[in-house]
Amino acid sequence: MASDDFHVYDTTLRDGMQQEGLSPSVADKLAIARHLDGLAVGFIEGGWPGANPKDTEFFKRAQTELDLKHAQLAAFGMTRRSGVKAADDPLVAALRESGAPIVTIVAKAHPRHVDLALKTDLRENLEMWRDTVTHLVAEGRRVFVDAEHFFDGYLLDREYALECVRTAVEAGASLVALCDTNGGMLPNQIGDAVADVIATTSARVGIHCHDDSGCAVANSLAAIDAGATHVQGAANGYGERTGNANLFTVVANLQLKKGRKVVPDEALAEMTRIAHAISEVTNVVPYSKQPYVGFSAFAHKAGIHASALKADPDLYQHIDPAVVGNDMRVLVSEMAGRSNIELKGRQLGYDLSADRDAVARITERVKELESRGHSFEAADASFELLLCSELEGPQSTEFFTVETWRVIVEQTADGRHVSEATVKIHAKGERIIATGEGNGPVNALDTALRQALGQLYPDLARLELVDYKVRILEGDHGTASRTRVLIETGNGEDNWSTIGVEENIVAASWTAIVDAVTYGLLRAQR
Ligand SMILES: [Zn+2]
Repeated sequence: MASDDFHVYDTTLRDGMQQEGLSPSVADKLAIARHLDGLAVGFIEGGWPGANPKDTEFFKRAQTELDLKHAQLAAFGMTRRSGVKAADDPLVAALRESGAPIVTIVAKAHPRHVDLALKTDLRENLEMWRDTVTHLVAEGRRVFVDAEHFFDGYLLDREYALECVRTAVEAGASLVALCDTNGGMLPNQIGDAVADVIATTSARVGIHCHDDSGCAVANSLAAIDAGATHVQGAANGYGERTGNANLFTVVANLQLKKGRKVVPDEALAEMTRIAHAISEVTNVVPYSKQPYVGFSAFAHKAGIHASALKADPDLYQHIDPAVVGNDMRVLVSEMAGRSNIELKGRQLGYDLSADRDAVARITERVKELESRGHSFEAADASFELLLCSELEGPQSTEFFTVETWRVIVEQTADGRHVSEATVKIHAKGERIIATGEGNGPVNALDTALRQALGQLYPDLARLELVDYKVRILEGDHGTASRTRVLIETGNGEDNWSTIGVEENIVAASWTAIVDAVTYGLLRAQR
């Protein structure tokens, strides 16, 4: 179990799931909890039992289905209702019965919210804090309190906000997490208020931030600098509106920039994988620019950097990506100089350092193709084919040659659309004609090509078209617009991307398909 000196408290399963479009099943929530435990967070807030049937079920199933190595589960709920004893409040009972060792109570610290949302007076609100905490502590639970709208309340009525915190401590709460519920604060405001709370109450202080001002992570760090020893956040910054503080960014910053050991190094090295695994469960496309764990977080483009990058990657990276389980990537683009091509080649397993002529030829070809609308940044496999053909001769990537291809699209009498393609190719000394049907022309061409090659290359049966993207590129200097097609293909283990650029969308697709199949054959051979 993690040390109690500093808490990493995850709220993905409760606050994070307020994000628009997220509605995980109980099984999903259990899966996410396992991933978070893999990051060795100290606490996982599972949800609000009693208020939400799915969350009640989560806590029930967690008792038998979750085997957490690091984290403790926390059940979230509200203070008792006004005018009822905590012991008699059914929602408080649901927290007691959840089986969670930690109960986190949300309580109001803002006078206008007490008046307008709770419709009670300030004195009764304090009684609700006191009674609920006292009752749950007496029942043997460890109680954390989330002081909702704390910072806005503090600016409006400092004395009352501090009185709320003192009440929680007197009643036996282990800590009070101060919440920037509206997410509009800036780091200096948070730092000042946290320092004041610590100086004028005896509370252990936690911090819970939202990202409405774009400062959730900075605000969390400011609170910790001011003495907070408990930080809340959500995986991948999930949460309503602009999201909660991104727990991954907070953890990495604390560990790598502030020298605080908040999770084991081995767990930190799993962070990128865990971030993506959680995205798989939530079905939210990972944000490529996410700090530390994003696909682009260590992607370098400009040619001018590449020569120095080759000499010493640390010159252009704030950390070694491996410590968070990420990788450096070099992007090939028209801005690329020779160093970039050389570096990218090395990454793909080709040593170009001794062959300056080849590097010059490849650089020229990349520049020429990119001026016509190619973009190798997103098409590693097409780039590797180009590299291979330049270095080892065109025959190295020529598994077949295309004589002709044709595709027709037909609307049938009953309104269906069917496509049929015919391809004529030469491979291994044979001339092969094959047809393929599909729900669209691209699908039909893909089927026909694989049909034609299938006898000679049985490995092709494993290939699958995973993704297909089209973009119309503006024409310039009097040329017509062009169509760029990116295709992603998989073989069950890996995926690769290929590109085609033509004036005609079907022709662009065909080029990308031919590259995709050729690359599949090249891989199978090596
Ligand atoms: Zn919140």
